[in-house]
Amino acid sequence: MPEVTDKEVLDQLSKVKGPDLKGDIVSLGLVENVLVNDGKVIFSINVPAERAQELEPLREAAEKAVSQLDGIAKVTAVLTAERKPSSAPVRPAPNSAQAGNVPPPMQAQAGAAANSGGKAGVPGIKNIIAVASGKGGVGKSTTSVNLALALASKGLKVGLLDADIYGPSMPRMLGITDKPTAQGKILSPLEGYGLKVMSMGFLVEEETPMIWRGPMVISALTQMLREVAWGELDLLIVDMPPGTGDAQLTMSQQVPLAGAVIVSTPQDIALIDARKGLNMFRKVEVPILGIIENMSTFICPKCGEQSDIFGHGGARSEADRLGIPFLGEIPLHMDIRTNSDGGTPITVSSPDSAHAIIYKQIADEVLGRLEAENSNRPQIVFE
Ligand code: ADP
Repeated sequence: MPEVTDKEVLDQLSKVKGPDLKGDIVSLGLVENVLVNDGKVIFSINVPAERAQELEPLREAAEKAVSQLDGIAKVTAVLTAERKPSSAPVRPAPNSAQAGNVPPPMQAQAGAAANSGGKAGVPGIKNIIAVASGKGGVGKSTTSVNLALALASKGLKVGLLDADIYGPSMPRMLGITDKPTAQGKILSPLEGYGLKVMSMGFLVEEETPMIWRGPMVISALTQMLREVAWGELDLLIVDMPPGTGDAQLTMSQQVPLAGAVIVSTPQDIALIDARKGLNMFRKVEVPILGIIENMSTFICPKCGEQSDIFGHGGARSEADRLGIPFLGEIPLHMDIRTNSDGGTPITVSSPDSAHAIIYKQIADEVLGRLEAENSNRPQIVFE
C-alpha cells in the first residue's frame, strides 16, 4: 500500500475544529511538522501553553481523524507551545540605558536584567550568558563546559544549562548519569564538578525523534530555565543549540541574556556561520561579549610542531573587522577531546595544564566584558 501523503494527513486534520470550535486547525495554521514514516504519523499542534490541558480533546480528535486514513499504523499528535518570532522588531525599542552609556537600573536578584529587554529575570540568577555557534561541531559544548568550570574555579557560583536540543552533551561531558528529581513542578538540577547542571539530555531520551524535540524546544527551555531550583548563581552558562534558525532566535528572545559568546573554528565557512550568529544576537539586542576561536592550532603531541589544520587567526581578524572583542584561542588537542568526551573536562582533570590555563584566561576575558556591560552591577565577585 502506498505511503499516506502529508496532504492526505492535512486534509483529514482540516476536518478538526480549532480551539473554541472556530475554524479548523489546519487553516488556523496550528498544525506543524507533519512526518509520515512507514505508516506512522507524527505532527504537532501549536496551542497556547496555558490551554494545553484543556485542549487535550482537540489533540485526541486530531489523532482520531488521521487514524481513519487507510494504511495508518500509529498516529501521534503532540501539543506544543512554541512562540514564533515576530517579524516586527523582536524586542521593544532599546531604552536610553541600552543605547547609551547610562547604566541600566539595578534589579536585585533579577537575572540578566541589564539586557533582558523587559523579560523577567530568573530569581537567584545574576547573569545568564549564551554560548553559541553558527553551526554544529565547532566545539561549542566543549567550550561551554570548560568555560563554566573555569569560571567556577574563580570562586563564582556557576550553573550550566544545556539547551542543545540537537545533541545534548552535558550528561556525557560531565559524566552525569542520574536523572533530576522533581518537587512538584520544580526540578532539582544535577551537580557536576561543582556546577549545577540541567540538560535536555536528562529530560529527553537521545532517540526521541527530532520532530518532537524541535517544537518542544521553547517550552522545554522555559521549563529548564524557570522551573529548576538553581538556587543562587552568579552565572548561568547556556549551551545554545547550534545554528541561527527560528528556534535559536526565539530562545535568544525568551531568555533574559546578559550577553553572548560565539565559538567558531578558524575556517572561513565557520566564520560565515559565526557572523550569522552575531547578527542573530544583534537582532535581539543581546550584547556580544566576544568570539572564541576553537581548534585554533594543532600542536603535535609527539614532535611539538604547530600545524594550523583549520587555518589560524581567522576568528581574531574577523572579530577585529566586526569590532567585537576577541576572547582567546583554544588549540585542537587530543587531551581536550578525550577529557571532554570522557566526562572529565580538562579544566578540572588537569587544572594546571596549558589548556586549562587558556580556558581560565578566556573566563577572565568573559568576566571583564560582562563587568563592562553590567558596570553598575556589583554581583560578580572576583577572587
Ligand atoms: P558542538 O557543541 O559545537 O557540536 P562539541 O563541543 O560537541 O561541538 O565538539 C565536537 C567534538 O570536537 C567533540 O568530540 C569534542 O571533544 C571535540 N573538540 C571540541 N573542541 C576541541 C579542541 N579544542 N580540541 C580537540 N577536540 C575538540
